Amino acid sequence: MQAEIIAVGTEMLLGQIVDTNGPFMARQLADLGINLYTETIVGDNPERLEEAIQLADSRSQLTILIGGLGPTKDDLTKQTVAKHLGVDLMLDETAMKQIAAHFKQAQREMTPNNWVQAQVPAGATVLPNTIGLAVGGFSEKNGHGYLILPGPPREFEPMVTQFVRPLLAKTYHPDEEIISRVLRFYGIGESRLATELADLIDQQQNPTIAPYIKADEVTLRLTARAHTDAEAKKLLDQTEQQIQARIGQYFYGYGDDNSLAQVVVTALKAQHVSITAAESLTAGLFQATIGSIPGASEIFNGGFVTYALAAKASLLDIPTAQLEHDGVVSAETAIAMARQSKAKMNSDIGISFTGVAGPDELEGHPAGTVYIGLAFKNQEPVAQLYHFSGGRNDVRRRSVMSGLSLILR
Ligand code: ATP
Ligand code: MG
Repeated sequence: MQAEIIAVGTEMLLGQIVDTNGPFMARQLADLGINLYTETIVGDNPERLEEAIQLADSRSQLTILIGGLGPTKDDLTKQTVAKHLGVDLMLDETAMKQIAAHFKQAQREMTPNNWVQAQVPAGATVLPNTIGLAVGGFSEKNGHGYLILPGPPREFEPMVTQFVRPLLAKTYHPDEEIISRVLRFYGIGESRLATELADLIDQQQNPTIAPYIKADEVTLRLTARAHTDAEAKKLLDQTEQQIQARIGQYFYGYGDDNSLAQVVVTALKAQHVSITAAESLTAGLFQATIGSIPGASEIFNGGFVTYALAAKASLLDIPTAQLEHDGVVSAETAIAMARQSKAKMNSDIGISFTGVAGPDELEGHPAGTVYIGLAFKNQEPVAQLYHFSGGRNDVRRRSVMSGLSLILR
C-alpha cells in the first residue's frame, strides 16, 4: 500500500504560498501506517495535472489531490479527476443546501459557478466541509483510490482529521482499530529528545512514535493499531510508560490543541488559585498569553508592566535605592517584583520577569540573562536564573514559556 500527494496550485510554483497541507497530510499518513511515496506540486493546468495523476497511477494505490476545488476558472482538480475516471460530476444535495443557506445568510446573490463547490465525481463518497463550501470526495477505480481535498488549510485540516482519517482507516485497515495519543513536552530540545528516545524511535512499529517540533515545544504522537480499542490502548499505555520513564520530567500534558498556557490555566482553575505578574523584559507577553486562554478571567485579575526602573519603583512600591543597589537584572529584584505584585493584586501567585532581551547587554549581563521570580502563596519567594539563546523575541518568548513551566513544577 503506497500513497502519493499532488498539491495543485500555481501560487506554490511561484513561491507566493508555502505548501503546509502536504506535510500535514504526510503526518496523518505516517500515523495511519500508510506509506507516502512522494509529493508533487502541479500548477493550475489540467494537462499537467492529468500527467501527474497518470504517473501516480503507475506506482501508487492512493492519490491525494489537494486544492483547486473552488468556483473560479483556474480550479480544475475535480473536473480533471472526473475525466480521468471517465465519469461526470454530480451535485451533492446536502452540499447544495449548505451553499444556498450560506448565500441567503450573507444576503449575497449566488452565481451558477458556486454550485461547482457542491460537485464530486459521480460515485464518490462525499467529505463534508464544516468551515467552507467546497466538499471533498473519495473515489475508487481499478483498486486505486483518489482523494480530492480543498486547498485552504483552515478547511483542509479539519476535513482531514474529522473525515479523511476515519475513511482511510476503514478502507485500508478494515480489521483494525487505530488510536492516537499526543504527549506534550517543554524544555527538552530536539537533539536531547532524539538521544533519549533513539532506540524506541528506531524500533517503533506499533505504536508508531512521531515527534513533532514546534517553537520550543515537542510533541510525540503515538499511534497504535489493534483488533480492539482496549488492545490498542494497552499498547499506547506501555509505550507511554517507557517514554515517561525517560523524559517524564519535561512532560506537561496531552492532546493536539493543548498548550503550556492552557495546562497552567486549567491547573490554577482546578485549585482555585489566582495569579498576577510583574513584567519587565516581557512587557506584558506573559499576561497576554494567559489572557489568550478561554476562562482566564477566573484566575487572572490583572497585573503590571514595569519596564523602566521608575515604573518598578512607582507601580510596585519597590524603593529606588534598593533597585539601584540590587540592579534590575538580579534575583533580589525578581523576588521583590513577584512579592509586590502578589501583594498589590491580592493574588495567590505573583510571578515576575526581569532580564536582558538584547541585543545589547545590560548592567554587564549578556543578552538572554533572565531572572524569573515566583511568590507562591505563603512560601518564601524564589528566583530562578536562565540563560536563553536567540534574538530579542526568542528570549522574551522563552521567558514566558519557562515562567509557565515554573508554575507547574
Ligand atoms: P477556494 O474555494 O478557496 O478557491 P480551493 O480548494 O480551490 O479553495 P485553491 O484555490 O487551490 O483551493 O487554494 C486556495 C487557497 O488555499 C490558496 O490561495 C492558499 O492560500 C491555500 N492553499 C492551497 N493549497 C495549499 C497548500 N498545499 N498548502 C497551504 N495552503 C494552500
Ligand atoms: Mg481556488
